[in-house]
Amino acid sequence: MFRIRTIHDDVSPANRHALAQTTEIMRSQFPLASQQEIDKLPGQLRDPLKYKFRSIIFVAEDSKDRVKGFALFLHATDLNFCYLEFISVAPGTTGGGLGGILYERVREEALSLGVNGIFFECLPDEAHLVEHPELLEQNKARLRFYERYGARPVVNNEFHKPISEGDNNLFFLVYDNLGQGTEVSRTVMRKVARAILERKYGDVCDEKYIRAVVNSFQDDPIKLREPRYIKRKRDVNVLAQKRIGQGIALIRNEGHEIHHVRDRGYVEAPVRISSIIKELDKTGLFEPLKPRRASEKLIKAVHDPDYVEYLRRACEQMPEGKSIYPIVFPLRNPRRTPKDWELRAGYYCMDTFTPLNHNAYLAARDAVSCAVTGAEEVLAGRRFAYALVRPPGHHAERRAFGGFCYFNSAAVAANYLSRYGTVAVLDVDFHHGNGTQDIFYHRADVLTISIHGHPSFAYPHFAGFADESGVASGEGFNVNYPLAEDSSPERYRKTLERALKRIREYKAQYLVIALGLDTAKGDPTGTWALTPEDFRLNGVAIGASGLPTLFVQEGGYRTRTLGYNARAFFQGVWEGAQQTKAKKSLNRQDAKGAKKI
Ligand SMILES: [Zn+2]
Repeated sequence: MFRIRTIHDDVSPANRHALAQTTEIMRSQFPLASQQEIDKLPGQLRDPLKYKFRSIIFVAEDSKDRVKGFALFLHATDLNFCYLEFISVAPGTTGGGLGGILYERVREEALSLGVNGIFFECLPDEAHLVEHPELLEQNKARLRFYERYGARPVVNNEFHKPISEGDNNLFFLVYDNLGQGTEVSRTVMRKVARAILERKYGDVCDEKYIRAVVNSFQDDPIKLREPRYIKRKRDVNVLAQKRIGQGIALIRNEGHEIHHVRDRGYVEAPVRISSIIKELDKTGLFEPLKPRRASEKLIKAVHDPDYVEYLRRACEQMPEGKSIYPIVFPLRNPRRTPKDWELRAGYYCMDTFTPLNHNAYLAARDAVSCAVTGAEEVLAGRRFAYALVRPPGHHAERRAFGGFCYFNSAAVAANYLSRYGTVAVLDVDFHHGNGTQDIFYHRADVLTISIHGHPSFAYPHFAGFADESGVASGEGFNVNYPLAEDSSPERYRKTLERALKRIREYKAQYLVIALGLDTAKGDPTGTWALTPEDFRLNGVAIGASGLPTLFVQEGGYRTRTLGYNARAFFQGVWEGAQQTKAKKSLNRQDAKGAKKI
């Protein structure tokens, strides 16, 4: 079991740890790579301008954060191509097709960057260029592998010309047009060849050599070698067109129905999920994924371990069908915990309408797993993931449940993401996200923002005021936007824009949306009147932020319209994302035009 993660920088300890392991693999698998080349890796990530390209690293990590393989590729924005510099599995890693998975991930990323194709170098598979028969077989296997994707060596050139007498490290230049059928003109080809030679081999080959190789490309457009290994066209196309990870990952806790409080007026009911799913299915935007069980460590990293243990054991002991509501709250003497399980509930609870029962723990635990699975998808480079879960979580504090919430799934996911970069949590539920605020109140590496009904009239009543801005190093990193009881959808949207602006200024690398839909017209727990069109517009604004985003379901209780609103919201998110993509590619074209490439 492993996951693939994108490394953007060497700032967080987790990224530094992964990079150290990556350079270790480079050293053992690429003995020809110079020390200097390996050492410049962190600098390359930090300073794309200095190196004239953007470096992107994917690492495949197992559950213990051990790097099992990696791919390093460069995005040359000026020439609109990618160059795959290294791709390798760790020594001793066998089977599992990890190399293939990494290469597919690179292709996906290249497609989403809108480039024409990927260039890379491969040792030749022709007997007259290779001395050892064993090596020849390895080289053939490698080129066969790439041929399945339609990637083949560029012919009629001297790229594989030895740099000096006795130079045995000859490489073919291989091109993968990503199944797009784009042709490469001679002019672009020569610039690409020059860029690779200068950037990668500048220290070993002189200008004379570079000029000779560059001018050896005569075909216009360039030609690729005829397929040598894969004869049936069908086989090529199937793989060349394989698209993964493009939709919104949809992760649901299937077992949520077991948590069903049948007490009168308990609006947090299983039908909420089915009414959303029914509408999402119509969009074709979602890609359902099975949740992977999140480790308890991740939960205990945001919730007090005693609290987690109490919930687990108290729920375990409850007979099926029985609920307990706290009756005493040890405000005056919190050190003297009652021994009795039922009496102790008030020790960890903030209100009197959120019961403990046999299934609450199980469902809440699964909801966390869904949110973490979504976070892993986002880390792997997917743009959007949606954990459609219940019970909700944003009212659950470090050591207290309440407001239908037990574990703060969004906070667990945000804390997990924060190991890899800066995170903003934006809570758009009608009610203040007091739990998330409480958990991150002292931290600067997770920005928490909540837009909600003013606590003077809305739950939780005790938190969500505008002057709550964080403490210690977290000062300034909690932002509350309490709004009036009769706030209009326009007012809401303006506030949302302000929140998104704050997130941009913060330079968040990941966004977590605590997605409450109880801002909707007619919601029994809210007072506002957002329509599906309002949800769509809000979705556009969030989707246009350009950030890898995890949505975690929170409130939303008017089941008649819940599905329509969710559908409209995600259609908007998708629209917003497409708009930013189009804008980016337009900018690229402008740049291209200016440089006349
Ligand atoms: Zn709510």
